[in-house]
Amino acid sequence: MSMNTQGRPSAPSGTVQIEKPATFTGNRALDMEEPLLFELGHWNICGVDLDEPEEFTPRLGGHERQSDIALPAFTEPEAMRHYVRLSRMNYAIDAGLYPLGSCTMKHNPRLNEKLSRLAGFADLHPLQPVSTASGAYELIDMLSEWLMQLTGTSAVAMSPKAGAHGEQCGMMAIKQALKARGEQRSIVLVPESAHGTNPATAALIGYKVVAVPARDDGTVDPQAVADKLKEHEGEVAALMLTNPNTCGLFEPQVVEIANLIHEAGAYFYCDGANFNAIVGKARPGDLGIDAMHINIHKTFSTPHGGGGPGSGPVVLSERLAPFAPLPFIRRTEKDLELVENASQLAEGEQPFGRMTAFHGQMGMFVRALAYMLSHGADGLQQASEDAVLNANYIRVGLQDLMSLPFGKKPCMHEVLFDDTFLKDTGVTTLDFAKAMIDEGYHPMTMYFPLVVHGAMLIEPTESESRASLDLFVATLRDLVMSAKQGNTSRFEGAPFHAPRRRLDETAAARKPVLKWTAPSPTEVEPR
Ligand SMILES: *Cc1c(COP(=O)(O)O)cnc(C)c1O
Repeated sequence: MSMNTQGRPSAPSGTVQIEKPATFTGNRALDMEEPLLFELGHWNICGVDLDEPEEFTPRLGGHERQSDIALPAFTEPEAMRHYVRLSRMNYAIDAGLYPLGSCTMKHNPRLNEKLSRLAGFADLHPLQPVSTASGAYELIDMLSEWLMQLTGTSAVAMSPKAGAHGEQCGMMAIKQALKARGEQRSIVLVPESAHGTNPATAALIGYKVVAVPARDDGTVDPQAVADKLKEHEGEVAALMLTNPNTCGLFEPQVVEIANLIHEAGAYFYCDGANFNAIVGKARPGDLGIDAMHINIHKTFSTPHGGGGPGSGPVVLSERLAPFAPLPFIRRTEKDLELVENASQLAEGEQPFGRMTAFHGQMGMFVRALAYMLSHGADGLQQASEDAVLNANYIRVGLQDLMSLPFGKKPCMHEVLFDDTFLKDTGVTTLDFAKAMIDEGYHPMTMYFPLVVHGAMLIEPTESESRASLDLFVATLRDLVMSAKQGNTSRFEGAPFHAPRRRLDETAAARKPVLKWTAPSPTEVEPR
């Protein structure tokens, strides 16, 4: 067997590729077909041994089930195997580099997992008396302190369950603050480079969205903000800005923009999804933000994507602090107090209401605090520095072959390419992404942000070693060279090696099949 330049086995040149023989099962070694649970299970038998119940008289007043339960049954090994086989079809951060820009797919340290499984945290019940859960409240309070310290803010609402939920929380606090001032403003300004959740949040809570155009260099022009404020004088409730922005650039005039917003009596909402670029380096509070959600599952390493629940606490400036939602924890002289309802409110506290039934994502809180304490302040700062270094390493490794829409200047923790380099190759941005799947990579974020053509947003995070970055860069260089040399067969119809080929993603999104229809019971035979 010969090796390629990366030391990986490759077919010796001149050898004939052997047609892969068909298999009896349709499986290809570890690449197995997996039917649905409903297609796999036994319909007429039970997966566990239960004694026949003794004679009894139902007490359900005629509501007892008349037909079979129609759920498939399994033995424990059968159920295990189904889910393990499915899990092997997933790409995961535990399987390889996951360059999905704006998502901060970083390693989830196993220490976090270990601590979150401590019975005292894992077995808590949200309705447990406060006196029996003081350790949990202490932890939430400690994490709140860290978040306020890191962001330079005065308050934090812990209950939102993800970034977008945090946006809603922050914007509702802003709405409440305006109401307390006796004002009803109707407009929210959102730059063109914003994540889709920003305008969606503003619209969801009843605001009209006005777009702020991007400058040629990918950043927001304070003059453009000033123009919009003037055009809609007295009507603008807030600006929602992402910083560093979704082009991977730090907004150089963010303070000027904050001042303009405040002078117009509006509030500055910052989308904090990209906080991983600046933790320990800059405090958003010092830049003039009034509210910012923190994607705990991005910046502070708790599992996300298909892998777990999110958590999106919102830090608030002094001006918005009184409007934070219930419930919250108040530190009294001797204790921590859980403020759950209006009768417990102190002078000046005017919560806008409640976002969730309980206190937030406890398991995520434990993981995030474990991450913070194991890194320490200096470690968190270094993580940000390494994340930025890694993104720039990729930028420099590819900038001669791929196109940088805003020139060869340093980026923050993610690097944005556009598809100019594919011009006249016959390979589309989508083809390029699909060919990456054959190489064993999850593609980067494609076609976002919308401000550049055929965007490819790469975020390696600090988790990646230099060897891993080198292989990624070499793979992308090889793909680009293939495209430029007219070897389009590698792209058309890719992926060739994935369990499923090119899927109709539009149909999947527009006409999802969400319901399984059972065959009629007579068709179901016991296996
Ligand atoms: C991820 C992300 C969001 C939304 O966060 P979720 O936790 O997925 O709800 C919002 N804005 C930006 C820029 C993001 O990257």
